[in-house]
Amino acid sequence: MQIERIETYVVEQALDTPFYFSQFEFQSRQICLVKVIAGDGSYGWGEGYGPATVVKAGVEFLAPLVVGEDPLQVEAIWSKMHLRALDYARRGVLVAAISAIDIALWDLRGKLLGQPVSTLLGGRRREQVMVYATGMYFTETDDLTGKLVDEARLYVSQGFRALKMKVGLGVDTDVKHVRAVRTAIGSDVQLMVDANHAYSLSEALSFARQIEELDISFFEEPVSPEDYEGYRELRRRISIPVAGGECEYLLAGFRHLLSRRCVDIAQPDICGAGGLTETKRIAALATAFQTNVIPHSWGTGIAFAAGLHLVSALDIVPGRLRMPEAMLEMDRSESALRENLTQPKFALENGRVAVPDLPGLGVDVDPDYLAEYARTD
Ligand code: CA
Repeated sequence: MQIERIETYVVEQALDTPFYFSQFEFQSRQICLVKVIAGDGSYGWGEGYGPATVVKAGVEFLAPLVVGEDPLQVEAIWSKMHLRALDYARRGVLVAAISAIDIALWDLRGKLLGQPVSTLLGGRRREQVMVYATGMYFTETDDLTGKLVDEARLYVSQGFRALKMKVGLGVDTDVKHVRAVRTAIGSDVQLMVDANHAYSLSEALSFARQIEELDISFFEEPVSPEDYEGYRELRRRISIPVAGGECEYLLAGFRHLLSRRCVDIAQPDICGAGGLTETKRIAALATAFQTNVIPHSWGTGIAFAAGLHLVSALDIVPGRLRMPEAMLEMDRSESALRENLTQPKFALENGRVAVPDLPGLGVDVDPDYLAEYARTD
């Protein structure tokens, strides 16, 4: 059987409440979805991370290489796309386009073989994955500290056992926010901080030293993703584990982050770093450096399902009887697309989400919702 065609959709929804992080403000959520359709009518879904219209253009550039291929030969198709794109895509959105097609191909392959993607990735080490709530973004309000505290309490009441908050407004303000949230949630819930590379090395050091006493599970993207030496030096000088990698691409990119010992936790985005094919390789490289992977996840149920399958199949280091728990990011910021585009819904139980056991990714796109929110321009 052959791949017959590839469809792309840019879906967009305006936010009720615009929010911002240390770099820019979101007025809407927008994502590029990819549907790969085989000759018998079966199909797989994927999505790309990054500016949706640019991802769409990348998918349309790559599609002629994929149409006509055998949908079971997923890694061979990946290599074909990568070779064609390499001169222009050692990083960036064209890699996200490869990622989107690759995820759709894994979904399709799983459906054709009657197996969940996690089984095809090498086997389900776990049936549930611990998730951490990502939220606590910034909004225009007279009481930002109170807003962050209320939101943290809400996630704990919903059953999350780990939360990640945004920082990067300035060291003093950030320290005040983190102290307030830690005080509000008590000591039993894991707390992480994410600066989205807003700090210089000296600011990151100052901030980390002031929050070291607050039992922070990791400090994400402290400095510029281009500053490998900054990462490395910070990691040597603070006791909080350092995390990063959502702006890194491909195995070759992660080699820089891992071989220089920049991070304690690598955070590839499956929809950006090269799809399931390449993120599985990145995870293997991370294991070789005794570094765990907690994927970055920021998208619809397709991206989240891809994350669940990958994390289900991950080896965790160090191996031991009671090993560290595998974890996945679960975005909780406002996104009706994430909540409504795919079925079935993901349920939180004891801070964990079950890995789908249906063939493929185990989620499908609601055609009515897609028709309503897909851009037609
Ligand atoms: Ca992040």
